[in-house]
Amino acid sequence: MSKPVKLALVGIGKIARDQHIPSIAGDDRFELAAAVSRNGRVDDVENYGDFDVFLRDCPDVQAVSLCTPPEVRFDMARKAIAAGRDVLLEKPPATTLGEAKALADAAARAGVVLFATWHSRFALGVVPARAWLAKREIRSIVITWKEDVRRWHPGQAWIWEAGGFGVFDPGINALSILTALVDEEIIVDRSRLAFPANRKQPIAASLVMRTASRVPITCELDWRQEGPQTWDIEIETDLGKLTLSKGGSELYISGQLEESGPDREYAGIYDRFAKLIQSRQSDADFRPLQLVADAFLCGERQEVEPFHD
Ligand code: NAP
Repeated sequence: MSKPVKLALVGIGKIARDQHIPSIAGDDRFELAAAVSRNGRVDDVENYGDFDVFLRDCPDVQAVSLCTPPEVRFDMARKAIAAGRDVLLEKPPATTLGEAKALADAAARAGVVLFATWHSRFALGVVPARAWLAKREIRSIVITWKEDVRRWHPGQAWIWEAGGFGVFDPGINALSILTALVDEEIIVDRSRLAFPANRKQPIAASLVMRTASRVPITCELDWRQEGPQTWDIEIETDLGKLTLSKGGSELYISGQLEESGPDREYAGIYDRFAKLIQSRQSDADFRPLQLVADAFLCGERQEVEPFHD
């Protein structure tokens, strides 16, 4: 067996601890060799507080997983690519499409692997849903993504700042599944964005979209839902209804549960990263980011009551 790829985890916060560290530990094709974070630390690996120092001192660490917030990811990714490292980007891949495309071009020029991850695409129901839909005609798509921001993003100030995406931080997960299921171009016709009076990013958004062949798509995103949380995509077809529930982890056909099981999203991400590294290929699909950008471009702003953590 070939030697494991030495990998550094960058930005030791919630997602690095909850998902990346256990998934890397569970995949013998990777060795977690370093952690880079200003405050966070990981036991039993080299820890660095500065990304430039890490790049200078660890030339043998071939791959980096960037788990920082999106607004600082571009500079890190650019430097890592220039230093010849293979790069995994947490979602969203960048704050703008221009940044994302610049990274893809730089990676192609440098001959390094760029993997722009969309963890929800690895949810259990997504691949079978795509296979089921391939033989049907889609009539309509309804996305409902409603969760409690206080529960999932406690104290994350960056998420409310410019470039933090607000409710599109979880909402882009739904759009990543949508674009994995629908091959046609998707057009945003209208959007309404609700901004708390004291915040720079929206707390809710309502999108009206359509495919190029005019299949209607609606998407309701809301961060104010207490109690049960809703991450559903309902697709009406000529031959029955498909529902992806719980963020894509449960698949129902005409109300009947077809797929469910333990979460394997990040195990799937690292499996794909290992295969991309082995085949020296990149995977950088920015369609979910484009839909968010378009929702902001045609968005009608509404001011709503202030939000306090
Ligand atoms: P987080 O808990 O805030 O962790 C991010 C870490 O990045 C921080 O702990 C911080 O560690 C480091 N960092 C570097 N520069 C920073 C800056 N300018 N501002 C704030 N932190 C900075 O965030 P997270 O929830 O892990 O999310 C990180 C990324 O993963 C986001 O893009 C998010 O969309 C994605 N993601 C999150 C989840 C989730 O459930 N939370 C799920 C899937 C994907 P130091 O202070 O030690 O540098």
